[in-house]
Amino acid sequence: MKIAVVGTGYVGLVSGTCFAETGVDVVCVDVNQQKIEKLNNGQIPIYEPGLEDIFKRNVEKGRLQFSTDLASNLKDTDVVFIAVGTPPDEDGSADLKYVLGVAGEIGRSMDHYMVVVTKSTVPVGTSVKVKNAIQAELEKRGVDIGFDVASNPEFLKEGSAVQDFLRPDRIVIGTDSEKAQTVMKRLYKPFLLNGHPILFMDIISSEMTKYAANSMLATRISFINDIANLCEILGADIDAVRKGIGSDPRIGNKFLYPGTGYGGSCFPKDVKALIRTADENGHSLEILKAVEAVNDRQKSILFNKVKQHFDGELKGRKFAIWGLAFKPKTDDMREAPSLVIVEKLLEAGATVVAYDPVAKEEARRILGDKIILAKDEYEACIDADALLLVTEWPEFRIPNFKVLGKLLKNKLIFDGRNIYDLAELDELAFTYYPVGRKSII
Ligand code: NAD
Repeated sequence: MKIAVVGTGYVGLVSGTCFAETGVDVVCVDVNQQKIEKLNNGQIPIYEPGLEDIFKRNVEKGRLQFSTDLASNLKDTDVVFIAVGTPPDEDGSADLKYVLGVAGEIGRSMDHYMVVVTKSTVPVGTSVKVKNAIQAELEKRGVDIGFDVASNPEFLKEGSAVQDFLRPDRIVIGTDSEKAQTVMKRLYKPFLLNGHPILFMDIISSEMTKYAANSMLATRISFINDIANLCEILGADIDAVRKGIGSDPRIGNKFLYPGTGYGGSCFPKDVKALIRTADENGHSLEILKAVEAVNDRQKSILFNKVKQHFDGELKGRKFAIWGLAFKPKTDDMREAPSLVIVEKLLEAGATVVAYDPVAKEEARRILGDKIILAKDEYEACIDADALLLVTEWPEFRIPNFKVLGKLLKNKLIFDGRNIYDLAELDELAFTYYPVGRKSII
């Protein structure tokens, strides 16, 4: 089998590499020449645990190739995956120019039957637009070539993308073609040996499934954050409450950790896009509107605690931040809560010294020299007025508090992810502000 994957971001590169691992010939195509050059030189442009090994193995075997030229790589291709970005437009809807651009290009170059699969997260109805865009180009060429479209939303998580792809909970495929079903079943069979299902459905339901999944997850986060804030006011402990409710199997204990709000390239834009789709269709998604509002508010809670502690006097102070990526094990800083916290501290006239184990390049690209990047977590704390824990990288979980106490100007920690032990910090005479729990002041 031969496939092409268009777009070599987190989704396209991981999918292409994992498909190659099953013996399929894969060409990954991207318009970003620099990215393709890097990949052709054996360099991976993103950080994703476990990717390098399998990338190298498949490149060496000649099964995984990279190119900027889609047209010439469509020859002999059975399946083309569209995995390009779908960033939010100004009005919050998903911008489909990249997806439809690729569809047009496929229509201009295809010369035999193939299945065109939309893997990007796209609003309901997009696969029809993809089909029409391809058909329009074929008609312009005056040729009659058969093809099928399918929707195959991706559920991998950055930070564990390779494992998620190799061992998926489920594969969702939307298509109305039996031929396409057979091709997709064959392609995905090696990933489903663990008994997890491949769910075939109509295209609209498949497109909707992805948005409903991300919206549900975002809802859990905003729910627990809102409850955490109330816990703080009432004197309850969100950690106890979280365990108390999570023990009910109808609720479950996963994805119930309070923090500084969700970020990343998916939840914020997908929640926005679904709200927009609903509004356009005369239905207001009240719950998701609240989810978004709660999240916006949550991104400021750590800063508000800092401001309150220092009676609003932040000018000239220096703060250490641990973790800039939107979550651990990724270098992705898109819509990261850290960005809001950094901007607010800078606006208030403070200096920020930050450390993140892998998002250094990304931080430099986004924030330039607005902040100082420390070489390790301890250097970030030298003479800082306080430490703000924003991303819970594993290596931040058991720091040497004695050393920290000496490096920091004040023994003061604002913990946006509740990773430290109240009793331990109390004993060490730290002032400690967690989220949704009693602070030690
Ligand atoms: P990304 O921004 O990391 O990568 C997108 C890539 O597409 C870029 O390399 C870009 O250069 C390339 N591209 C754009 N136009 C192109 C064109 N015409 N031809 C070839 N390449 C082109 O994006 P991502 O995070 O991989 O996400 C891709 C899609 O998958 C989005 O719709 C996203 O919502 C969805 N998704 C992402 C995740 C995730 O965790 N990142 C998970 C599930 C689904």
